[in-house]
Amino acid sequence: MHDDAHRAQRTLNRFLADARPSATYQVMDRVAARRAAGHAVISLSAGEPDFDTPAHVRAAGIAAIEAGQTRYTQVAGLRALREAIAAKFARENGLGVDWRDTLVCSGGKQVIFNALAATLNAGDEVIVPAPYWVSYPEIVQLCGGQAITVACGADSGFKLTPRALAAAITPRTRWLILNSPSNPTGAVYSRAELQALAEVLLAHPQVLVLSDDIYEHLIFDGLEFFTLAQVEPRLQPRVLTMNGVSKAYAMTGWRIGFGTGPRWLIEAMEKLQGQQTSGACTISQHAALAALTGPQDFVRESRAVFQRRRDMVVELLNQAPGLHCAVPQGAFYAFAACAGLLGKTTPAGTTLHSDEDVVNALLDEAGVATVHGSAFGLGPYIRIAYALDDASLRRACTAIRTFCAALTG
Ligand code: GLU
Repeated sequence: MHDDAHRAQRTLNRFLADARPSATYQVMDRVAARRAAGHAVISLSAGEPDFDTPAHVRAAGIAAIEAGQTRYTQVAGLRALREAIAAKFARENGLGVDWRDTLVCSGGKQVIFNALAATLNAGDEVIVPAPYWVSYPEIVQLCGGQAITVACGADSGFKLTPRALAAAITPRTRWLILNSPSNPTGAVYSRAELQALAEVLLAHPQVLVLSDDIYEHLIFDGLEFFTLAQVEPRLQPRVLTMNGVSKAYAMTGWRIGFGTGPRWLIEAMEKLQGQQTSGACTISQHAALAALTGPQDFVRESRAVFQRRRDMVVELLNQAPGLHCAVPQGAFYAFAACAGLLGKTTPAGTTLHSDEDVVNALLDEAGVATVHGSAFGLGPYIRIAYALDDASLRRACTAIRTFCAALTG
């Protein structure tokens, strides 16, 4: 066959061709490859709780299988689960939500994907405050939109300010993506900060808002969680509030995310999902129902554990020469500035020019996996997921400190 024919066969969709693979999954793949090659690695890369899913939730999954709950559900999800989701939004977020205005998806990622695929047209802009979770700009790209990243550095606590938001909005702006507590920085927006952003948004009725609240329950120091539609009810008709069971109930592998928003949007997302996955896994939906309606002790207990780990990790990281880490108020990530390491050389002879070099050298020479901040749109930083037992975290932080201390130049 001619080269031209070969090339034509392999031509990818241009949105996919221009998208980057998930940086978090790339690091996880590297960890797996190094372990398979016999190297010991402590992984602080993947953002997933190390706890087991609570026993009563696991039992609900098993019971669903035994009861023959193994067929399709409605595309938008089991009615009982959608009612539980509506009750959750009312109970925890003060949102008056009809169960018909909710949608269950295969993980939080699919909620975002459905929403953007359902609404973006060529050239539409999506404002993404940076640092951002690695997948936001790529999902925008895959859906044919244009991600407009807005730099939110340490000076603003890694948060979007009303002034920066106002400057980023254009007639083409379709969405703003907000994420609090934030992955990767752990930043948490206060009620007043959300209210100030809402004031700007009220003046721009064409802008929809995706509020990614997946880390809602991982919030420390007694802070109270707020979400945009709760703070400014006038915005509720154009806010998609999303959440899921992955982080709050240690259920990442069950793949259940959900959202609530205006009926027209939920119906469009349902239409898309009906031609795509047909809906989320039935067994997982039964387990998620048990998580949302059962005892909530697990949520409180894991919050306390993560706060304790945060304190330990931040203290140890700040002892490493060349690293500086502010105290995050939520999620389970520490975002450490590593500018102090750049230009230095490792014992194996690698000169560190970027945060990606730092991450690679930490993995190869110290056996610790992290993710580079530039993948989240802000370098030079490294993201440390402290969703690991105390002893492993202590060993990892000691290895990072030893690595930093051994750099020369
Ligand atoms: N949200 C997690 C993280 O940032 C899971 C991996 C992913 O989906 O990116 O590590």
